Order: sequence, then structure tokens, then C-alpha cells
Amino acid sequence: MARYIFITGGVVSSLGKGLASAALGALLQARGYSVRLRKLDPYLNVDPGTMSPFEHGEVFVTDDGAETDLDLGHYERFTGVAARKTDSVSSGRVYSTVLEKERRGDYLGKTIQVVPHVTNQIKEFLDIGDDEVDFMLCEIGGTVGDIEGLPFFEAIRQFSHDRPRGECVFMHLTLLPYLAASGELKTKPTQHSVKELQSIGIAPDVLVCRSEHPIPEKEREKIALFCNVRKECVVAAYDLKSIYEAPLAYHRQGLDQAVLDAFQIASAPKPDLARWHDVYDRIHNPEGEVKIAVVGKYVQLEDAYKSFKEALTHGGMHNRVKVKVEWVDAEIFDREDAAPHLEGYHAILVPGGFGERGTEGKIKAAQFARERKIPYFGICLGMQMAVIEAARNVAGIKSAGSEEFDHEAGEKRFEPVVYHLKEWVQGNHMVARKSDDDKGGTMRLGAYDATLTEGSKVAEIYGATAIEERHRHRYEVDTKYRDQLESRGMLFSGMSPDGKLPEIVEWSDHPWFIGVQFHPELKSKPFAPHPLFADFVRAAVEVSRLV
Ligand code: GLN
Repeated sequence: MARYIFITGGVVSSLGKGLASAALGALLQARGYSVRLRKLDPYLNVDPGTMSPFEHGEVFVTDDGAETDLDLGHYERFTGVAARKTDSVSSGRVYSTVLEKERRGDYLGKTIQVVPHVTNQIKEFLDIGDDEVDFMLCEIGGTVGDIEGLPFFEAIRQFSHDRPRGECVFMHLTLLPYLAASGELKTKPTQHSVKELQSIGIAPDVLVCRSEHPIPEKEREKIALFCNVRKECVVAAYDLKSIYEAPLAYHRQGLDQAVLDAFQIASAPKPDLARWHDVYDRIHNPEGEVKIAVVGKYVQLEDAYKSFKEALTHGGMHNRVKVKVEWVDAEIFDREDAAPHLEGYHAILVPGGFGERGTEGKIKAAQFARERKIPYFGICLGMQMAVIEAARNVAGIKSAGSEEFDHEAGEKRFEPVVYHLKEWVQGNHMVARKSDDDKGGTMRLGAYDATLTEGSKVAEIYGATAIEERHRHRYEVDTKYRDQLESRGMLFSGMSPDGKLPEIVEWSDHPWFIGVQFHPELKSKPFAPHPLFADFVRAAVEVSRLV
């Protein structure tokens, strides 16, 4: 049976609960324990798949095809443990499960209530897989006191009572604001936040206090006294230059020790932090810099592209260079020459995206990279744009486009070299979708196998011809145009095992031009950079040496 660590937050949002949870997971792993991390989100969407990346940041996709919160990305990047559908639980999922059961008659005529039915359902989700790991870390989204979070707080309170004593630990993140006028860190908001938690029956064991200034011993004692925690369990969290310093920084502040003490585990192995020291060294001592243009639409909100921004950083770490990412709004050169906007970069990346806005600019970015022989990495929509560019400008299919844009516009304007996929094979069964299906979860989602052409650039980069990568898209490149494109040098070097769905394209006569239908960024880790990102940055380094 796993021990449970519940991570909650107070005072303000965006304190870095996800990061603290991920770092704690990494530290427990470093001591030889197995961990799983889980996110409980109070919002009513069944999953974040339908939420705008502007509002909620990136949708992180798991191997088993769940569209989840971007915090699960942090968890994976820090622990390397692949998240599952059951590691992301929103109020929406809880309620829809309860209502399904109610309709089925599972509650035998009872009146359905938040307590116990909703809370029991949350506890059922918490229980999943508890026999597989030593520690289950469960982060509760939002801040204590939010109306919609209450059922989750009540459920974790009950859960800790249902379990044997000492099997659950509560860790609470707060903020110590600094008053410049009096030169003081203020502890009152933390006290109030803990009081709020206590009023719903939860006494935190460990307090993690975010602060922009060193926390004096006196303040630490005061927090311990007023918040009813041990002094060693008041852990400081200072701002860091890079998120990947977090495991080392939290270890220095005694977080893992405080948690182990709270569980009364006296005999924990010493942590092996070699992996994190290496990561630290690579981030802080780069031997060069490359400038990469990311040509996208959600350039206003970096969180919308979280994973691949991180994957580029990992690629940089692999090559011991700093990757300077510059966000270029594709719409700016929808109607004008792209060159003035793209000159001077060592590589160009076109990430995933939805809808027609900005796509003409992305197509121009692909053309610029192809003609100038600048490294180009197209991810999902970025691959589709590269294929459309090749079809229009190399194969002479002037009206080439994607069915996605015609669907959106409600009229037929393009020859669909990228078409809406309605039926495909997953493992050994067929999946079918209609155009008017619900928006949630109707894409080709999660891990799929691909077969790479022997001798191709990608097979060389992966060092394999059989790979598995995560997908999230509705549209596919049509194999109808394969011969036309291949005869002109655009190779379909990765295909689904049945040969029907193009997974990777590459220009054979270009130093580095690769488009992938999947999202390799989702599987990259600081200590195990994804091979495509590592090699893409290597290619950018080569360009930087030429100029
Ligand atoms: N909009 C494209 C599709 O649905 C690409 C999606 C993506 O880039 N994730 O196929």
C-alpha cells in the first residue's frame, strides 16, 4: 500500500505547487523509492482537452490517450514516470462518473449528495494503483478556500482517516509577501491560509513557503508556532534561475527530510542526486548559444507551448548550449515576405496548432527553411504545413491545403493533401469518428507505433526503426500524394505499422528538415532529452558555427 502525500496551496495561485510536487517526487526517487504523481483539479471541464491553451496552458497527452493538465508534464519530466489517464481527475470527471452511476441505478435509489457520493468517488480515484508504488503524491489544484475545491479537501481529509495512522502527509504551499517599506516578510497570510485548512479538518505536516527574500530564523519559528508545525517542517522555496534546480534546492532546504520525518521513516536511504547535479551543470555552464525561432499562433502565452519549450532546453543541455527561443507570430507574414522575420535564426520550429489563422505564415516559414537549408522541425500542424508547402511549391499542386481550414470556413477552397481522418487502427482494433462527434476526446490521441525507413535520417537519429510516440490531432497527410512528393525528395520516412498514416516526412537533400505528426516534446526529460530535439539543436549549433 502506498503512502500518500497531499499537496495543497494557499494565499495566492501560481505558487509552483506542480513544480514542488514534481521535485519532491524526484527527491523520493533519488532515495530509491517508487512514486506516482496525480493531479486533482476543481474545474468542471471533464478534462482540459477542450480548454483554450490561452487560458489553461498546454494540454498534456498521456500514453493512454488522456488530455490532461500541464502539471502532469512537469511530473513526467522530473520523475520519468509515464502519467496515466487516472492521474488527472477533475470535478467534471468526478461528477460525470457519479451521474453515470446514478443513471445506471448503481446507488439503489439513494439521494445522491456531495458527501458521501462525490467524496467517495474522489477517494476511489485516489485509490487507483496504490499497490504499485511506495509514494503517491496528489496535488490539489486551486487554493484552499475556493468553493469548488471543497469536495476534494473533504475527500482527502476522509481518506487520511480511512488509512492507518501515519500513512498520509499534508504539505501546504504558501507565500510570504515582502513589505519593502518595513523591510519585513509577512507571515499573516500563511497563518490565515493554514487556519482555513484547519477549519476543514486538515492539519498540514509540512509548510513550503515561497519567498523572494531569505526567511529569518525568527520568522520560521513564528510560522511554526502559529501554524502548528515543527520548525524543521517550515521549508523555504526561493526563486530559481531554472526549474530544474528545484530538486537540489528543495533538498538543500530539507523538504524530502521533512516529509520522511512526517512519515516517521527513520531509515531512508541517502539520496543519489548525481542526475540533478549533472542537469544543473549543463544548464549553468553552457558553452554556446543558439537562437531558434518558434513560429506559432499562441505566442502570447508561453505556457501554451510548455513541453516543447522544455524539450528545446533539454536539447540544449544535451549539446551544452543555451537555447534562446524567440516566439514569432506567424500571422505577421501571412501576407508578406517571411524572410525579414526569419533571417538570423539558427533553426526554425513550427509547433502544433489548430485552425487556419496564421497557417499561410507557417507555410512560408517551411518554404524559407527548405530553400535556405536552415534546420526545420515541424510538429503535428508544423508537419502538415511542410507537406502543404512541398505540394504547392515543389509538386505543383497549387491549391494544396488542409481539410481543417475548409471545414472551419464552411467552403471548399483547397485540394486536401491533409484530410480529416475518420477511421484508424489502434493496437488491434478500429477507431471510428464522425465529423459531428463531441469535441472532447475525439482526436487520434495517445501513443501509437511507427515504422521508420531503414537508412533514413530519422532512423539514424532514433537509432531504431520501431518507435512509439504520442499523438493529438484530427487530420492526416494523405498518402495519395506520397509518390508525387517522394519523387521530388520529400521522403515519408515514418509510417503507421499498417502503412496507411504518414508519421514522419523529411527532405532527403536538406541538412535537417523533419516533420512529425506526433508530439515528441511530450516524452523529453532533462536527464533524457528526446533524440529529435537533441539532434535538432545539434543541427542549429552547426548553423551557428557557420555564421
Ligand atoms: N490541427 C491539426 C490536426 O488536428 C494539428 C493538431 C496539432 O498540431 N496538435 O490534425
